[in-house]
Amino acid sequence: MLIVMKPDATQSEIERVSQIIKDLGYRPHPMAGSTRTAIGITGNDGSLDSAHFVSLSGVAEAIRVTKPYKLVTRELKPERSMIAVGDSFIGGSELALIAGPCAVETYDQVFETAEAVAATGAKFFRGGAYKPRTSPYAFQGTGEEGLRILSEVRSQFGLNIVTEAMDERGVDLVEEYGDCIQIGARNMQNFSLLKYVGKSNKPVLLKRGISATMEEFLLAAEYIMNEGNYNVILCERGIRTFGTHARNTLDLSVVPAVKATSHLPIIIDPSHGTGKNYMVGPMAKAGVAVGADGLLIEVHPNPREALCDGAQALLPEQFRLLSTELHALRSSLKPEPTAVSV
Ligand code: PEP
Ligand code: MN
Repeated sequence: MLIVMKPDATQSEIERVSQIIKDLGYRPHPMAGSTRTAIGITGNDGSLDSAHFVSLSGVAEAIRVTKPYKLVTRELKPERSMIAVGDSFIGGSELALIAGPCAVETYDQVFETAEAVAATGAKFFRGGAYKPRTSPYAFQGTGEEGLRILSEVRSQFGLNIVTEAMDERGVDLVEEYGDCIQIGARNMQNFSLLKYVGKSNKPVLLKRGISATMEEFLLAAEYIMNEGNYNVILCERGIRTFGTHARNTLDLSVVPAVKATSHLPIIIDPSHGTGKNYMVGPMAKAGVAVGADGLLIEVHPNPREALCDGAQALLPEQFRLLSTELHALRSSLKPEPTAVSV
C-alpha cells in the first residue's frame, strides 16, 4: 500500500503517518515529489486495511499496489529521480558520462586515463579494484591498493569515483574510498549483498544480471531501497542471447520500459553490452537516443595490454570524440522531464 499525502500536508503530518506505520510493525518510506509526498509501506505480508490511514490528517488517499514492486515505481514517485553521486548528479538534465578502465592496473595507467576523461568534462570515473572474473586464473584486481589510487584520482581531477564491490568487506572499503558502489551483473541477485548496500549511505549503481528480466532487475533495486537506501542507479549492460556477433545483446528497449514503470535513473553500458571496440560508439549513441540518463564506457590508454576487457576499451582520443557527439545528440533531443532528487 502507498499513502498519498495532500499537497499541503505538513512535515509533522508526514511524520505522524510514518510513526503509525511503524507502530503497526511495518516500514514507512516517505518519498517527496514536486507536488506531494507519498509514503510507501513495506514489511506487510498480506494486504493492509486502508481504514488505518485515510482518516488521518494530511492524507489524500491510500492506494493498493498491485505490482510486485513498490518503492521503485512511479506510483510512489511520479517524477524522475536524480541521484547525487559525489558532487554531481545522475538522472538530471545533464547526460552522465562514467568512463575509465575496466580494471585499476597501475597508478600510471589509471592517471593517464583519468586525465583524459577529466579533460572531456566527464564528472565520473570508473575502474574496478575488485574484478569478478569468469576464470579464477584471470587477473582478480588490485584490491585496496587500487581503491587508494582511485581516491587519488578524485583529489587530483575532481572526478567522482564509481567502483565495484563484490562482498560486504568490499562495500565497507568502497564506502571509504569511493563515491558510488557498483554491484555487478553477477551479483544482481546476491540478496544479502543487496540488503547490505541498502544500509549504505553511498549511492548504488546496480547492473542488470546476465539473464535477468526487467521485473527481476527492478526487484533487485527494490531490495536495496527496502533497507532505506533510495539512491539507486540502474544500468543495462547487455543480456545473454543466442547472438554470437557481440559479447552480449544490449537490450535498449529496457530503457523506455523501465522509465514507464520506475522513477529511478537508468544508464547504458555499451562496453560490456557489445564487447567490441567498434560497436561501442554506435550503441552509446543509440543509448542516448532511447533516453538513457548516462553511459558507462571503458577507456584504456593501451587496450592491447589491458589486463581485462581490452577488446571493448576505447582509446582516450576515441572517447573524447564520442563524448562530444553524445552531448550534441542529447541536446538535439526533447529535454527529459524535470527530475527531483531523492
Ligand atoms: C565491469 O563493469 O567491469 C563489469 C565487470 O561489468 P558487469 O558486471 O556488467 O559484467
Ligand atoms: Mn569490464
